Amino acid sequence: MDYNVVSVSGGKDSTAVLLLALERNAPNLKAVFADTGNEHPITYDYLEYLDKKVHPITIVKADFTEDLNRRSDYIQNHWLEEGKSQYEIDKAVEALKPTGNPFLDLCLYKGRFPSPRAAFCTKMLKKEVIDQQVFSPLLTEGYDVNSWVGVRADESPRRAALKVSEFAKDLKGSKLWIYRPVLKWTAQDCFNLHKKHGIEPNPLYKMGMSRVGCMPCMQCRKTELLEISKRFPEEFERIKNWEERVSNASKRGSATFFPAKADELGKYPKIDTVISNLKYKQSYEFQEELFEPMCSSVYGLCE
Ligand code: SF4
Repeated sequence: MDYNVVSVSGGKDSTAVLLLALERNAPNLKAVFADTGNEHPITYDYLEYLDKKVHPITIVKADFTEDLNRRSDYIQNHWLEEGKSQYEIDKAVEALKPTGNPFLDLCLYKGRFPSPRAAFCTKMLKKEVIDQQVFSPLLTEGYDVNSWVGVRADESPRRAALKVSEFAKDLKGSKLWIYRPVLKWTAQDCFNLHKKHGIEPNPLYKMGMSRVGCMPCMQCRKTELLEISKRFPEEFERIKNWEERVSNASKRGSATFFPAKADELGKYPKIDTVISNLKYKQSYEFQEELFEPMCSSVYGLCE
């Protein structure tokens, strides 16, 4: 017997995939959402809407409690001999107390935020969590699993190179397959399927967001970042607070949400500086993107 698992993000593509799986009467259908802890409240509300109107959604999330405790022990046992002061050690140990928010706890553990070059977030907050909490138990029980993923070829060159269907792994004789049924679809095709089923898209699309996922994603567009700062200033307050906490836990004493060049004093700009620089630049130059255009993960778990 097979299980069909749809990874839902709250975005248009994965919602279209869920609707498609229902249209095709995919047997033993499971919809799964990996909660990063860095989503907008509107997305959490939208997932509740999908859960009631479309199909029940199982929420899974990473837990970094053991990693944080291990890191805390390491700091207490080694930082003094590595040249750190007792004040810095106490500050880091205090910062490393688990918060239960996967995104924040992961960054505290790493002592940094993810970046386009070190995009450990998708892997550790989504892919591995779904693997460990959903796929592996089913495979171990002897079921084959089809993993339905909402990626589209026109999102990025990496995604364009993917196949519609491919074998992923074998566990104790059970097989995991990846299936990307909307790979050749346009964004409009996905919205059309919502309409056909009388399902509203995530309201964030009507608020200037071109994608739905972390709020903000460390790879989001410059224009989108400004839109978020205007519409959802509370999200930036949250990130400001996270920058403070992760800085306290980091060995170099500084961590910024967005990767950027250091200023003339060798300091890396925190999120409020990034936003005010963008607002300043907006007045006379605004053509190129400061960051990578979008998350180009091949896992298809971030839109
Ligand atoms: S949406 Fe962006 S920040 Fe969030 S997990 Fe994906 S790549 Fe990382």
